This record gives sequence, structure tokens and C-alpha cells, in this order.
Amino acid sequence: MRYQYIYKHYEHFKQIGSELFHAGLNNFHSGNMSVRENDDVIITATGSKLGFLEKDDLVCVDLNSEEKGRASCEVSVHRAVYRETTAKAIVHAHAPYSVVLSFDNDKFTPMDGEGKVYFPDGVNIVHVRQSVASEEVALEIPGILKKDKAVIVAGHGIFAVGEDLVEAAKWISSIENSSHLVYLHRCMKGE
Ligand SMILES: [Zn+2]
Repeated sequence: MRYQYIYKHYEHFKQIGSELFHAGLNNFHSGNMSVRENDDVIITATGSKLGFLEKDDLVCVDLNSEEKGRASCEVSVHRAVYRETTAKAIVHAHAPYSVVLSFDNDKFTPMDGEGKVYFPDGVNIVHVRQSVASEEVALEIPGILKKDKAVIVAGHGIFAVGEDLVEAAKWISSIENSSHLVYLHRCMKGE
């Protein structure tokens, strides 16, 4: 069954991973993605290159265990989100403009029309001591993602949820586009 899940989702992972990388939303080895199938989580392997995924770069783990195996170092965060929300997919990316604007703020507020439609209440920014493979992040963000589409971990990146990988990636792309515009606006004003 687990191999069937990997086979079922592989083309989707490959496509979205490639688009995230080529859009500059992830660097060569950053980011991770997962989908939920009942009590199984199909997730990218640690160290995999999201822009060039092979089938062997996907692993299937039990939602209700703590087993990590070759799974992404963020698997604890993915499990925590699935346990507490209705998310069916999670995408994480190190979107640079979103990260650079996250250091000094608790919320990102888009200025552009699309961003305001998708995120009328802004996007919460979580500040933790350790932001990578972090138990703090696993504790903090599921509560936010119960009602929000995405959250930014300060100095690290965005975690977004959706019905599938495309929807989760869409939120990341939109937040990064809005962040880029805010950044350019500040530069234009000489801030
Ligand atoms: Zn990361």
C-alpha cells in the first residue's frame, strides 16, 4: 500500500517541487512537501532536491508514530499539523522575500489586491529559538493552521496547507509575490 501511495503522488510532487525551485521559492536542497492518505503521510526525504525529485525521494510514514527514517527533518511538524487540522497537503519553502520581511514583524500584511483577497487578515509570523526541525514549531503552528492557510516561521520559511500540493503551493507563491511587492515598495520609498 505504501509504495502505491508513492506511485500515486509522485508526478504531482515532482511537478510542484520543480515549479517551487524554478520560481526561486526554494534553493537547491531546501523545503519539503507532504500529502496525507488516512493514517499515512507521504513526505519528501531528508536532503532531497525538490526541483529534481525521483521516486526514491518520497517516503511514507505512519501519522501516529514518531518514526522518522529517511523522512524530511521537518516530519514532526508535518505530523503535528495533520493531527490537529483538516489539511490534506503541506508545502514548506524558504521563500526569500517572505523570510527577509519576517525578522522584525509578528504579521505580514499584503499591500496588493490579490494578497488582500487571499490573506485579508495578513499572515502570522512565528518567532522561535530554533526554527529548523523544531519542536517549538511543531507546537506553535498547528493551532494557527487550523484556521489559516499559511504561517511564516521567522528567519526560516513558509508552511502552507491545502486540499492538495497545488493549493498549498499557491498560497506560498502568493505570499512571496506580495512580500516581493512590499519589499520593492519600501526600497522605492528609501526605507
Ligand atoms: Zn525549512
